[in-house]
Amino acid sequence: MDGRLIEAREGELVIEAAQRAGIMVPHYCYHRGLGNPGNCRMCIVEVEGIARPQVSCRFPVKDGLVVRSLSPEARRAQSSALELHLADHPLDCPICDQSGECGLQDYYMGIGRYPSAMREDKFHKGKRIPIGPHVMLDQERCILCTRCTRFVDRVTGTHELGIFGRGHCQVVDLAPGRILDNPYSGNLVDICPVGALTDRDFRFQARVWYLKETVSVCPGCSRGCSIFAHTSTRRPWHNKGKRLARLKPRYNPDVNGDWICDEGRYGFADFDNDRLGKVLRLKPQPEELSWDAALDSVAQALRKGVGEKGADGLAVVASGALSNEDWQAFQRLFAQSIQAKNFLFAPWPDQVGPKDDLLRRSEKVPNLEGGWALGFGQGISSMDWDALAAAVASGRIWGLYVVDRDIDRVWGERTAGLVDRLDLLVFQGPRKYGVSNRAHFRLPATAWLEEDGHFTNFQGKIQAYGQALKPLGAARPDWQIFEELIARWPQGAGA
Ligand code: SF4
Ligand code: SF4
Repeated sequence: MDGRLIEAREGELVIEAAQRAGIMVPHYCYHRGLGNPGNCRMCIVEVEGIARPQVSCRFPVKDGLVVRSLSPEARRAQSSALELHLADHPLDCPICDQSGECGLQDYYMGIGRYPSAMREDKFHKGKRIPIGPHVMLDQERCILCTRCTRFVDRVTGTHELGIFGRGHCQVVDLAPGRILDNPYSGNLVDICPVGALTDRDFRFQARVWYLKETVSVCPGCSRGCSIFAHTSTRRPWHNKGKRLARLKPRYNPDVNGDWICDEGRYGFADFDNDRLGKVLRLKPQPEELSWDAALDSVAQALRKGVGEKGADGLAVVASGALSNEDWQAFQRLFAQSIQAKNFLFAPWPDQVGPKDDLLRRSEKVPNLEGGWALGFGQGISSMDWDALAAAVASGRIWGLYVVDRDIDRVWGERTAGLVDRLDLLVFQGPRKYGVSNRAHFRLPATAWLEEDGHFTNFQGKIQAYGQALKPLGAARPDWQIFEELIARWPQGAGA
């Protein structure tokens, strides 16, 4: 192909063999997760021995095939197909969210650059049609590649979209009486190669060339989908004042393929809300502390409680949102150094939610597996919420160390009465919950986008994620807080 010798399986599509070899043939309708209808005619190539150009997403490989995708003949055919797609396309680029990552722009600059032959007015279709809670449709930008209709037919099986009309009146539209509200609807924005389907959450918030892309892992459930985090590089971030602009799927055939769910994609829109950034002692008087002063005080309070009342009276509520690095330090602090006996680890009920057969898992935290690998939740877990409430009410538990858990969602109105009985309540985490206001010490931890780390998903796959943002305020990674407390714990001074 294009003068190179490529090995391919007999019957493999030419476009796929080319992609594997690093030759990118222009295409719109073909998508590895959605099939190859061959309707956009962009992937035309010359095949030696065949008089007419062929679409490479419908042409199977056979031994000795000679293909040209860069020849003047192939380029002319690709450029003609592009010109047809653009014949009625509006000149929306300056106001289109797809600008900067648009298949029409990219191919025009790559293989087009023809003078427009159009003298007639363009044919107009519907614009700014909200077709669901997350997606906006612009029918006149659509090139009718059918990726979106194939997605709702083959991937979600929800069939909300169809192609209606004939000839140049053809449009993508909602099926009668339907809205696009399936739990994976945001993927349509990713697969639409042009600006016809845009993200209502992201529209007009940032230009894509001002975004920084970081390899990440979705912390929305125990699937741990591979994602990219796109963060704003300009202040003031973008219009809504957010640092996290959007999350996009990252192809991983072993975990999530090409897709992510809407819960994961849109669930972190409030990433910067209700965050903890100050190191505080809240009781007896609210007071901001330096990290050193706070860690000294927490370590001293833990030592005092363990010394006077025993490690049996300390309970630790862990979170499945911890990274593998956090879990290691967590174990060294609480299980090895302090030798605490009471761990509450189960995700229920504050860290569970809906699941399905495609990607979503009911455990709404990314790394229970990392804790299980260290024995938490099996041998080391000794409590459930009712047992813990009873132990606190009876006075058997004198201290509670809460890592990023929303206890109010579990104990409800009982929470205040129970936690106010404790000699020591430490809350550590990136986000404020009701119980965090009742703690003696409140320690701000980084959220996953503000640190490097690893999650182990429910399949046991370990994935790395990178730091995309600076920590807010004084927040530190959980593992670092645990390590600092270990350093303050006298060796051999466990229960
Ligand atoms: S809306 Fe987008 S994905 Fe759907 S047919 Fe049109 S161009 Fe293709
Ligand atoms: S399935 Fe789970 S891990 Fe994947 S995007 Fe959704 S919430 Fe995130």
